[in-house]
Amino acid sequence: NEMSSSFESATPHNKSVAIIGAGLVGCLTALSLSKRSGYSVTLFELRPDPRLESTSKSSKNLRSINLAVSDRGLNALRRVDPGLESRILEKVIPMTGRMIHKLSGEEESQKYALDGKKGINSIDRGYLNELLLEELDISEKKVEVKFGYKLEKVQEDGKISFTNTNTKQQEQFQFDLVIGADGSFSKVRSELQKFIRLDYSQQYIDCAYLELSIPALDNNGFSLDKNHLHIWPRDDFMLIALPNLDGSFTSTFFAPWGLFESKELSNDEGILKFFRYNFPDAVELIGEESLLYAFAHHPRGKLLSLKCNQYNYKDKILIIGDAAHSMVPFYGQGMNCGFEDVFVLTELLDKHRDDLSLAFEEYSQTRVHDLSAIVDLAISNYKEMSHKVNSKLFLLKTKIDFL
Ligand code: FAD
Repeated sequence: NEMSSSFESATPHNKSVAIIGAGLVGCLTALSLSKRSGYSVTLFELRPDPRLESTSKSSKNLRSINLAVSDRGLNALRRVDPGLESRILEKVIPMTGRMIHKLSGEEESQKYALDGKKGINSIDRGYLNELLLEELDISEKKVEVKFGYKLEKVQEDGKISFTNTNTKQQEQFQFDLVIGADGSFSKVRSELQKFIRLDYSQQYIDCAYLELSIPALDNNGFSLDKNHLHIWPRDDFMLIALPNLDGSFTSTFFAPWGLFESKELSNDEGILKFFRYNFPDAVELIGEESLLYAFAHHPRGKLLSLKCNQYNYKDKILIIGDAAHSMVPFYGQGMNCGFEDVFVLTELLDKHRDDLSLAFEEYSQTRVHDLSAIVDLAISNYKEMSHKVNSKLFLLKTKIDFL
């Protein structure tokens, strides 16, 4: 890499870059480009700054309270800044295996690695996003972050238009390059479709999710083993729980929409009956009141699978992260793959000495295979899980893959 850094500093260009979306992937992309010479980066985000006290919880990007960061994601963080990886690792809870909770109440620990040490890490999504934003503020070449800007239009020549959500005024900017990290419903992606023959497909799966919580014990103790990802598999629905640093667990109930909307789960009595029957041990930990509160007040999340066959328009527009590939969460790889996008892009910029046309073309041509594979793997795993196969073999074959 020494050689590539001397290339970087020798590269004679100065590109203005707009990154749309200050989610996890947009922030890492901004950080990565700001560390290269020759780029001045502006990051635009629709929502208000999540670090401000005035920002309500509902305005934050909290699709899940916590998520699993794996080696794939950590590699990318390290590539951008080794210190960043260690700052993140200070705030994770390592999960070295999954704990299967059977209906009988029996528990079975399945280690992720033969040595029982390696695994995945639970991290608070809000914390991770805020840490990445902080990094942008303290980065040597400060990235300007503009909150409250909703992207409306991208033109071929790099002109972009926003609605300023505070003033409600339209504002226009001009950049050399626009990177869309604006998530599954990406505006940049729909604009990109005007300039290239972008094949694009999406599929909602028949599965919704609802977030629940298992509180900490007194003195921040954990009521389940904290170094496991907990799974209560029950044929075509299931519950999972990931640990948080404060001793609590964030739990997610996944089930077909039909079950969520069924008579069975339409009133408090039915919900309690269903949970006491299917997850008796978990109900005790969640608490009946808190369970009913979640059913009454928490949103039901949709799960989308999405693929594109190309990610760039010349050296002008590129999409990255969920904007380019959304996957159902059964491999826990969405964000990790988005971070890997940044890693792959950085390697290609090094390889092509910041010739954006060459780097983006190669990115589109090569990255598509890996991304298509992981989106398919995540969906086929979901399909297998929804086929009511609940055997020892099934557990081995699919639950092992799950997160
Ligand atoms: P996003 O997080 O969607 O961020 C996009 C940003 O763009 C947002 O801040 C949004 O406000 C902004 N934006 C959107 N439109 C505009 C616009 N027009 N103008 C300006 N800004 C805009 N992944 C894992 O790796 N591990 C896990 O364990 C995991 N668990 C998950 C659990 C659940 C229940 C779900 C739903 C997902 C999970 N994922 C997980 C996937 C992960 O959440 C996503 O892959 C990740 O958030 C993608 O990041 P992103 O930055 O690409 O997009």
